[in-house]
Amino acid sequence: MTHPGELLKKSGLYAGKELGQNFLSHPTTAQMIVEKTGVDKETTVLEIGPGLGAITLPLARSCKQVVAVEKDRRIIPLLEEELAGEGICNVTIINQDILKTDIREIAGTEKLVVIGNLPYNISSQILFKLVTIRQVVTRAFLMFQKELAQRLLSSAGTKDYSRLSAVVQYASKISRVADIGPNNFFPRPEVNSTVLRFDFFETKGMGEADEILLFSVIKAAFSKRRKTLHNAMSGGEMGLTKELVGIALKNAGIDASRRAETLNVQEFIDLSKAVGKLNA
Ligand code: SAM
Repeated sequence: MTHPGELLKKSGLYAGKELGQNFLSHPTTAQMIVEKTGVDKETTVLEIGPGLGAITLPLARSCKQVVAVEKDRRIIPLLEEELAGEGICNVTIINQDILKTDIREIAGTEKLVVIGNLPYNISSQILFKLVTIRQVVTRAFLMFQKELAQRLLSSAGTKDYSRLSAVVQYASKISRVADIGPNNFFPRPEVNSTVLRFDFFETKGMGEADEILLFSVIKAAFSKRRKTLHNAMSGGEMGLTKELVGIALKNAGIDASRRAETLNVQEFIDLSKAVGKLNA
């Protein structure tokens, strides 16, 4: 693997901040991440943001096929050159924004493993998208800014527990794979990073409409974090009156004076079912 600084310099390019371009510059770190994924010659992998190929190269050597979605058209010829230089031909590069990519179409009849050292400015959106299409994903290994990883891992009742924690914990078992320091990247970021593993669950008996309602309830509950659930959930996008919110909370067996950050995933499911019954 050629050092990303050298590759960019040779081509007169620069790392784009708006694209979150902090490239992994240590081959051993990239290799370690790939080894943790447990991919083999049967696995098709979706890589989000391959960049200059730090992860793509060891990944392609270990799995059946890599589909790599990269938004930055400028760096794709460099990535192609790196792959060709190593004689790697099981990588398909798609020049697209991952937020606009049809991941179900990429999967076809297969199930994917997803890997990405994510652009940090859109990592929450990418993760939410994966939650919604998780039927075609077995597991994902994603690198986040350490603080966001911490929020995702935190339990109900702690200060870091957030809307995204509740949604993602509903959809997956989350575990920490590794903490990665700033010296592993070019250019060196000012933040620490963490790789998390997500093992996605099936639908837990919830239909698509139930799930959309659940995510709306979680969103409404966290919309005014400091308020009680009774106040936070009335009005707003869901358009529920205070009286109806009170009935739903009572039917779900949840004290109306509690705040969103104290509810675990099962309590959110119970609450969304009670809200669903209001409309029935
Ligand atoms: N995987 C490489 C590595 O580890 O060195 C690059 C990681 S860098 C943190 C993030 C990569 O995501 C960059 O290559 C960037 O161009 C790409 N990217 C940024 N926004 C994207 C988007 N919306 N869709 C796809 N790729 C994107």
